[in-house]
Amino acid sequence: MSLIPLPAAPGADAHVSISLLNSRVTLPGGRVADELDSPEAATRWLIERDLVPESTELLEYCQGRLADLRGTLRALFAAQVEGAEPEAAVLGDVNRALTRVPSAPLLRHDGDRGLHRAPAHPVTKLVEHAMAQIAEDAAALLTGESAGTVARCAAPPCDRFLLRTHARRHWCSTRCGDRVRASRAYARRQEASVGAG
Ligand SMILES: [Zn+2]
Repeated sequence: MSLIPLPAAPGADAHVSISLLNSRVTLPGGRVADELDSPEAATRWLIERDLVPESTELLEYCQGRLADLRGTLRALFAAQVEGAEPEAAVLGDVNRALTRVPSAPLLRHDGDRGLHRAPAHPVTKLVEHAMAQIAEDAAALLTGESAGTVARCAAPPCDRFLLRTHARRHWCSTRCGDRVRASRAYARRQEASVGAG
């Protein structure tokens, strides 16, 4: 059961980077729902997307790094939506996530097993691998033919990102669209009653 009471935004099922961006959302009324707000929740989020094996258990350190990547990608996608240049630090963080993939397992030796291979920090490496896949998805999306369809939901306070399925759609869900239409209708009624009075 998702913490976020909205269907996935258009593009989020196909693009894990958008899914990560939208794992934290400001709901009407200002409450923030965050799918990565504990190590257990972050673990579940990665397992549900097949980014880590079922048996993985993230610690707070890895949860924090995944949340940091989300912040970085939100800044990157915001720059794309605004037609602005992303900050150098943002590009640097994305590139570090892209390239810091697990290296070869280390060669070790002990009395029982003799020489054997073992990863240095298994969970950290798994999470770095997952983060590299998410960063790869973002980099491919923002340089591919769908880059121009990246948008941010136009129904405040909602701050989810989406891929516009047609030119005039600027919200992430029917519910957000209905909220925009309702507030426009309300504004029109206010204007009409001011005009009449
Ligand atoms: Zn929305």
